[in-house]
Amino acid sequence: MAALRDLEIGVMFWAGRDPLQTVREVKALGVRVGQIGVPGDMALDGAAQSWKSALEQEDFTVVTVFCSYVGESYADIPTVQQTVGFIPPATRQEREQRTKDVSDFAAALGVKSIACHIGFVPENRTDPAYLDVLHMVRRICDHAGKHGQSFALETGQEPAETLLTFLRDVDRTNIGINFDPANMIMYGTGDPIQALGVLGPHVISVHCKDGVWPPKGVAGALGSERPLGEGEVGMEQFIAKLKQIGYKGALNIEREIEDQEQKKVDMRNGVKLLEKLRA
Ligand code: MG
Repeated sequence: MAALRDLEIGVMFWAGRDPLQTVREVKALGVRVGQIGVPGDMALDGAAQSWKSALEQEDFTVVTVFCSYVGESYADIPTVQQTVGFIPPATRQEREQRTKDVSDFAAALGVKSIACHIGFVPENRTDPAYLDVLHMVRRICDHAGKHGQSFALETGQEPAETLLTFLRDVDRTNIGINFDPANMIMYGTGDPIQALGVLGPHVISVHCKDGVWPPKGVAGALGSERPLGEGEVGMEQFIAKLKQIGYKGALNIEREIEDQEQKKVDMRNGVKLLEKLRA
């Protein structure tokens, strides 16, 4: 495996297509590390072997495997509340099993961290949903722990303090954060640079994504994503803050648009921007 430098630039990309072709396309962006998202409907049986050999053949390092789930929608805030992660009660059981299966898939690839959006964590610690999800996250941590993996929660859907309280309540050594600064802005949950200071010791991995605040006066609306450096995160401050908290892991560029060609252009520009900022 390639020896990675501190703050190695990587990308967040998705499985679901031919592994070797996917890894080659990702490498063509100029990176040798990244995070794989596993679509909720991707069959995991037999998938690990072809992924493992593609990664070995291309000498590509995966730092995190992300779970997503069938039925999730990020259309607006109420829809996210009803469909994303572990909060909707009807799908909790199947999503717990899916997360454990993805943990096993990641283990077969030799990946030491799994992650997901667990959804909006309630602020009230006595809310039954808070307690049910807390126990669910503990069970997933314990499962991942058997593989020597951490379980990282993606930021954004709740303020940093709420997430920090939840992490402390989970009380597992392998729980942590995948910090996404754009989500904090797009969900309107708080200044990402300040939030990174609050969550710093728990940050296992990061997304480098940019975005703008929700439009004023539109209830439930999300802000929108922008190419790296063109939103309101302040990439320069973000990278400076990561250095200040002593983060040394990969800088995983995330760009979530349908147009695959534009996505590649934006990611390449993102790589150039980060090369300048981390220097
Ligand atoms: Mg993200």
